[in-house]
Amino acid sequence: MDEWFLRINGRGNAWPVPLGQENPFYCRNGEIEYANASFSLMQFEKGIKDREHLETELMIDAGHGSIPNLLRLYNRIPDALFITHPHFDHFLGIDWIAQSYYRFNNKQKYPVYATEYCWDTILETIPHLEEIIAFHPLEPGVKSEIPEADQISVTAFPVFHGVSAKGAAMFLFEVEKEKYSKVLFSGDVLFPLLNEQAYEELQNVDYCIVDSNNRFPYPRSNHWSMTTGNNQGKESLINFMNNLKLEVVLEPHTGLPSGNRYSGYFKYLKDQSDWKEGIPFTVFDFIERIHPKTVLPVHYSGLEDEKYYNKSVLNNLEMQNWLNNSAQQFGLSTNFVIAEIGDFFST
Ligand SMILES: [Zn+2]
Ligand SMILES: [Zn+2]
Repeated sequence: MDEWFLRINGRGNAWPVPLGQENPFYCRNGEIEYANASFSLMQFEKGIKDREHLETELMIDAGHGSIPNLLRLYNRIPDALFITHPHFDHFLGIDWIAQSYYRFNNKQKYPVYATEYCWDTILETIPHLEEIIAFHPLEPGVKSEIPEADQISVTAFPVFHGVSAKGAAMFLFEVEKEKYSKVLFSGDVLFPLLNEQAYEELQNVDYCIVDSNNRFPYPRSNHWSMTTGNNQGKESLINFMNNLKLEVVLEPHTGLPSGNRYSGYFKYLKDQSDWKEGIPFTVFDFIERIHPKTVLPVHYSGLEDEKYYNKSVLNNLEMQNWLNNSAQQFGLSTNFVIAEIGDFFST
């Protein structure tokens, strides 16, 4: 039986260890830890996890350091690449992957999936990609088949990750084999923009790989925090949200302030008397809403916790324990796992 697995190619934030600094979560001497958050969904013949039995690989995000890990792990070109948003720590590896494919596959274009606005922004940054990439646009809330993997579909759901993150999205992958399973990659998020149907589709995902940049809120970072804990940072989050206008939140998706791209999807926000109502502003709030079975927090920096809350940056084990203890306090039954690079999870 062919089986699908999730593999961790990298779990870091933008600069996991800034030059001249130390970070207890990432080892300065461990090259494999330089990779940013990046993952693969991989199908192995008979479930045997080696290079020879690998049939299909879909890669999600390819930032700094992810390619050396691909070379180290199987030295194989993924069959397609999915980019959550146009920030360097998520797309800088595209060129290496696509050039490898183009040069050694009779100048075939390499398949990349993203939202249209995300892709336009990447092309502005690296224009020559247009010649070597076959782009597949993903529309918010619309499930797409993936020609490279006939048992899997993908749906992009918009998220707000600041004004520079054009077309930023989380991706839900649904694996349809004997056993049906769902894997959600949040990408980078300050908060998601999900209508009721989206919440339904996200219920009980098997794995939720989630941006957990800080333990406590620092909304100016444009990233999710894990929790407001015992009201830690709740006030700053509320103040920030009170000053945030819907036009600003929608512009990275619809275009200019007056833009109406995907107006169908975003209608639910305009129809609400308060557009902020019901939005999960922390990872814990989100988990409470969608009940994932296992949560893999990634993209941890902790620098804001240290600077604004005087809380130490945790190492991997401390983080896993802190998350599971805090979750228990809040009555969440989800299991948190800090994954290592190269780890596999059965879907
Ligand atoms: Zn990032
Ligand atoms: Zn980002």
